Amino acid sequence: MVEAILSEEERKLRETAGRVLPGGTFGNEGSGIVIRRGEGGRVWDVSGNEYVDYLLGSGPMLIGHCHSEVLTAVEEQIPKGSTFFANNEQGILLADDVVDAIPCADKVRFVSSGSEATFYAMRAARAFRKRDKILKFEGGFHGMNDYALMSMAPKRPGNFPQAMPDSPGIPQRVQQEVLIAPFNDVEAAVALIREHKDELAGVIVEAFQRLIPPAPGFLEALREVTKETGVVLIFDEVVTGFRFAYGGAQEYYGTVPDLCSLGKVVGGGYPLACVAGSEEIMSHFDATKVAEDEFMQQIGTLSGNPVAAAAGRATLRVLREPGAYDRLHAIGHKLMEGIKELLQKTGTKAQVVGEPPLFDVFFTEGDVRDYRTLTSVDNAAQSKFNKEICARGVLKGGNKYYISLAHTDDDIAHTLNAVEEALAELHASG
Ligand code: PMP
Repeated sequence: MVEAILSEEERKLRETAGRVLPGGTFGNEGSGIVIRRGEGGRVWDVSGNEYVDYLLGSGPMLIGHCHSEVLTAVEEQIPKGSTFFANNEQGILLADDVVDAIPCADKVRFVSSGSEATFYAMRAARAFRKRDKILKFEGGFHGMNDYALMSMAPKRPGNFPQAMPDSPGIPQRVQQEVLIAPFNDVEAAVALIREHKDELAGVIVEAFQRLIPPAPGFLEALREVTKETGVVLIFDEVVTGFRFAYGGAQEYYGTVPDLCSLGKVVGGGYPLACVAGSEEIMSHFDATKVAEDEFMQQIGTLSGNPVAAAAGRATLRVLREPGAYDRLHAIGHKLMEGIKELLQKTGTKAQVVGEPPLFDVFFTEGDVRDYRTLTSVDNAAQSKFNKEICARGVLKGGNKYYISLAHTDDDIAHTLNAVEEALAELHASG
């Protein structure tokens, strides 16, 4: 096992983290590495170790760390003020960009995190439909709110549509308000939506669930049955928005929902997210458009924060440059194909799953199409592999390579080299 250097300074910081943070972490990335800075597709820890960065801040840094256009936009905004609570120029112009980009978006409501965005999207669906229940998919991740934490990662999956809470501290009643369906199973999902149509407010789905692409016809079937029943279709595009295509997964896969949540890329690396959707449903955020008891009060101190909005606008400007998405997909494709070749060459029982901007290696040869088929993945091998490549200067999340426009041929070559060595190590240790 190769070990990264651990300086005295970083060791002390880790010790402080262990004393003042639960589990010694912010609750996010668990390796304990303390990052000092990032630039382009790379980050450096406090000890000075350099990593090709596929964690990308869990996705926001699609165009790379410290992109010059984002730095300039933020530096121009900072001396003008950090936050106002009132409307501001940057936020209004970012909302205009979102409406231009995202097929389902007539109107935009800003919040500060993806978890809030999915929470308010579900609430808007309930306000519009005057019904309470939400259907989500087993294994679907929609942040940390009480409704999202149902059958996100159930240890003992129940019978559909029974929801299983993923966390203590969630009121028991919420469990009854969420129905669970199997991802990518058209027949089961359509039947459940039809059966429960009179109590369902909305269906929330990651069009690309974690790393699993939608089976042909799956999103189309959800669109059709929600139209037929009047149930609100919500795409959680916190990950896919502005990543798979400028118009998100709804453009990439060609199915337009009623509402979506956006986060990560839209804030350019700053805390900003939003709910976007049709005029009719979004009117519930507007006291002048709906009856008094249909109006959803929604306030957030930092909503539409001008520094975050400036960073988001600059990021979207870069993404609108001709060829940006072709380039992003080409970079991801190159790494995906390189890893596939190495898996094949070494006879590793593993496969690459996902789309070029976001994928990972799954240590299984079984078909991966929903949460339950993921149980065949050898998680111990996956985690050892991640540790081995991390020790060789490749940083990634537990189960994701996020690709950046800033990743270079050198980064890909370095990564493939690390993957080859890590696979050799894995095979040597059985
Ligand atoms: N939805 C999806 C699909 C996500 O991946 C995430 C975050 N990883 C969220 C919602 C929650 O976003 P945040 O972490 O900004 O609350």
